[in-house]
Amino acid sequence: MRIMAMMNQKGGVGKTTTAVNLGAALAEAGQRVCLIDMDPQAHLTINYGLEPSGEQANLYDVLCGDQPLKQAMHAIGERITIVPSSIDLAAAEVELVSVIGREGVLKRKLAQVDCDFDYLILDCPPSLGVLTLNALSVADEVIIPMQPHFLSLQGVAKLLETIALVSERMNPALKVSGVVLTMFDAQTRLSAEVVHELESFFDAARDKRLPWSAARIFATRIRRNIKLAESPSFGQTILQYEPSSNGAADYRALAKEIIDGPEEDSGTRIGTEANAAPAPEMAGSISVDVAQCDQSDESKSEPESESIAPLKSD
Ligand code: ADP
Ligand code: MG
Repeated sequence: MRIMAMMNQKGGVGKTTTAVNLGAALAEAGQRVCLIDMDPQAHLTINYGLEPSGEQANLYDVLCGDQPLKQAMHAIGERITIVPSSIDLAAAEVELVSVIGREGVLKRKLAQVDCDFDYLILDCPPSLGVLTLNALSVADEVIIPMQPHFLSLQGVAKLLETIALVSERMNPALKVSGVVLTMFDAQTRLSAEVVHELESFFDAARDKRLPWSAARIFATRIRRNIKLAESPSFGQTILQYEPSSNGAADYRALAKEIIDGPEEDSGTRIGTEANAAPAPEMAGSISVDVAQCDQSDESKSEPESESIAPLKSD
């Protein structure tokens, strides 16, 4: 089972749209998928036509109550299972504060169920709080949905620092598999510059022991497509709502790319010595405190031995 967290502390970048429709496209391709809605806004839950009223067993009951995770797994169709969110989940950040090992609650609950999925996808809230930390504690991979804006790059540094901390202290297996460019417009020069900046940044990490040293920009760009914005209000995925739209095509392509893994000969693929471009310093370029994040020294603390403050204090 591959466990993937859709993470970006910025809101409105396409995390939920990607979790919903990538999940649907993976299921359409024959994969068994479980989607966990980690966001109190419950957009993923609503997008799958479920009520976030809290009446059915949901993630709040699992994280803050004694409900087993299995109870909150609701089968939707043949190969998709949803663990819904509810508005109560907003209280989890506060309620879990006094719980020892609060970042590892989901991990412990997950260990208690016999999962029969190919993919477990976690839709994170737009923050680096305890809910996101719970997602990062169980994930093997982080996928970062991002709009190709310069301001988006600034947020990436903070996000990667959090991932590095979690990887160091709680989940050494955690890796960033890549960035999915969302709401993409190929016409703008800005998009190209952001892509270049990100590629240079990831290339510079290739020989370091960092969670993002194998990260790439997915070759599939998710184009801006109004059908993707319309489908949630019908409680449908894009594959149900408009199966022949660009949005459906893009998420099918992304699913295929994720199932197949990286291909060395792709034009947009990065990470080989040959195409590694020197990184020019641009305004808005990414700067991560690597000294703090680099895990090459051996003095790693035991996983889960320490708590991480939800927001890293500098
Ligand atoms: P997040 O989960 O990161 O907050 P969402 O997935 O909810 O972001 O997306 C924010 C808004 O943008 C939503 O209204 C969504 O329908 C819309 N949206 C997402 N991706 C696209 C796209 N490729 N084209 C058009 N609208 C999109
Ligand atoms: Mg969301």
